[in-house]
Amino acid sequence: MPRYKSLNGSLMEESIGYSDGERTVVDGQRVSVFTAYLQDYLAAPNLTILTETLVRSVTIEGDRATGVSVVQNGKSRQFNARYEVILSTGAIQTPKILMLSGIGDEKELRRHDIAMRQHLPGVGRNFQDHPLVLGCNWLAPAGAPVMQAASLVAFCNSLTSNPAPDLHIVFSGFMTATPHVAQRYRYPAGNFVFPGGWGMSIGLLRPESRGRITLADANPHSKPVIDARMLSEPRDRDALLVAIEMARSIGNSAALKSFTTGELSPGLSTSKERNSFLRDAIGTYFHPTSTAKMGTDDLSVVGADLAVHGIEGLRIADASIMPRIPAANTMGPCVVIGERASHMIRASYGL
Ligand SMILES: Cc1cc2nc3c(=O)[nH]c(=O)nc-3n(C[C@H](O)[C@H](O)[C@H](O)COP(=O)(O)OP(=O)(O)OC[C@H]3O[C@@H](n4cnc5c(N)ncnc54)[C@H](O)[C@@H]3O)c2cc1C
Repeated sequence: MPRYKSLNGSLMEESIGYSDGERTVVDGQRVSVFTAYLQDYLAAPNLTILTETLVRSVTIEGDRATGVSVVQNGKSRQFNARYEVILSTGAIQTPKILMLSGIGDEKELRRHDIAMRQHLPGVGRNFQDHPLVLGCNWLAPAGAPVMQAASLVAFCNSLTSNPAPDLHIVFSGFMTATPHVAQRYRYPAGNFVFPGGWGMSIGLLRPESRGRITLADANPHSKPVIDARMLSEPRDRDALLVAIEMARSIGNSAALKSFTTGELSPGLSTSKERNSFLRDAIGTYFHPTSTAKMGTDDLSVVGADLAVHGIEGLRIADASIMPRIPAANTMGPCVVIGERASHMIRASYGL
């Protein structure tokens, strides 16, 4: 495989290649979106951060968003917006808040006796996530060199006819496995992460399966229902089965022989065994997106300016607006959405 200098760039368009894993680090310190964008402004007069505060709904008068209703330490409070409300509550909670505000599929709202403000059937639909396979692992001899988590990331292609990569193969210096795989292959005690070996986790970057977020009930404290429908499209399953074999051919290659005493899992041969392993090993890459997608079709929720269709003064700026999940980790794209939102808001008010 050709080696690239960075994960972020031309490698993302190539059919095969790898690079070192990348982290957001400045002067030897991990940097989060909070530390990068907010930490230096905590004392600014035009910023108030309320913790332990749950947004219940957006308040709407006529077809205009007027503020948010919240619960803070068990007490209800109302905040009114002089200009507009911007929801950045992520692809799982944003559709929940929209539905609790009366914005969503009419049938779904009626099911929970929520008064409809705007019929937008796409709210909560089009849920996308990258499936992640945890469980391709090799035992290491004592004294073998140890790598970090996600030390190397390869972009690969499950189908030779597809020019762009659709797989991440992520190398780590320890073993990762779902509880089902750990039980089936008698892993040592641990939880998702296991010592004594190394392995590869596999992410599917261009899933075709689509899920849905719905309300459990009309209580803002209830968790929404996530129906991820992972692997509901056979193409996704087929791509991951190819990927597992790619990982196995790398792990069992002559070049790595001196670093392992043998394959711990999956080590399978029949197609039935491979399918059953995949079902045990599948989980989330923690990249939920696309539940309030940007566009102009019947299932879109926001326009190009991030404004919710049919409601004045309400924008969404988070992973939910992505029409399609990017073929990459999602933090960077979410930061770009935030940056673009800030440019649009400044342009709207001449700031
Ligand atoms: C365990 C894990 C590991 C990850 N690792 C990586 C990685 O290595 N690289 C990468 O690129 N991406 C990674 N991601 C994905 C990345 O973190 C997300 O794609 C990104 O944070 C999504 O941004 P967002 O703004 O859409 O939502 P979020 O970052 O989820 O922000 C939503 C915010 O809204 C708040 N909120 C939600 N509902 C309410 C409410 N009702 N009232 C008040 N506040 C509310 C939440 O508390 C949260 O602070 C990871 C995610 C997870 C969970």
